Amino acid sequence: MSRRRIGVMGGTFDPIHHGHLVAASEVQAQFGLEQVIFVPTGQPWQKSHEAVSPAEDRYLMTVIATASNPRFLVSRVDVDRAGPTYTADTLTDLHAEYPDADLYFITGADALEQILSWHRVEEMFQLAHFIGVTRPGYSLNGAHLPAGAVSLVEIPAMAISSTGCRDRVRAGLPVWYLVPDGIVQYISKRGLYRELTPEWGP
Ligand code: ATP
Ligand code: MG
Repeated sequence: MSRRRIGVMGGTFDPIHHGHLVAASEVQAQFGLEQVIFVPTGQPWQKSHEAVSPAEDRYLMTVIATASNPRFLVSRVDVDRAGPTYTADTLTDLHAEYPDADLYFITGADALEQILSWHRVEEMFQLAHFIGVTRPGYSLNGAHLPAGAVSLVEIPAMAISSTGCRDRVRAGLPVWYLVPDGIVQYISKRGLYRELTPEWGP
């Protein structure tokens, strides 16, 4: 019997936008994935010097943005693990949760370029097959990556970044159509990306 195929889309998702959603949807279809699990980071170690929105806000935005797609799920494994998020830990936890599945970790061209600098990189390649997707402004190539560990995939170009969305909100510009409608409303309701981000909690 063939093993289940499950996609994993890791990200800070601050906020989640249509570039993330198109990447996950396209890889789901091209690779015949049963599900794609979105995994918002806890504290992202590459971004520890930057202000990142509270994990609960990023988690809830990911749930809101993916709710209508029956193949999309959201996992709290990274949000609930203390300390910085390392993808090797994410994949170890998901492997334990889905022992009968092969995991496909989806990553944009910019992140793929950095991947060899990630922690416990050899362990990561043991735990999942990596899928690098095209992203406007970055070139996609698997140079220096272990042979057979990574597939490169062309997806519809969405020149959207979370940094760009945050900058637009801060400048009072619209983010309609860059992010799902529910995310526009959530950002406004929580006052995210203004000068002072409110604490999460009652
Ligand atoms: P930031 O600007 O805060 O870094 P981001 O838009 O890069 O945000 P991340 O949460 O850092 O979003 O990215 C999560 C994953 O999604 C990464 O693998 C990234 O390469 C990929 N990704 C993000 N935006 C796109 C896009 N527009 N097209 C393809 N892949 C994308
Ligand atoms: Mg990024």
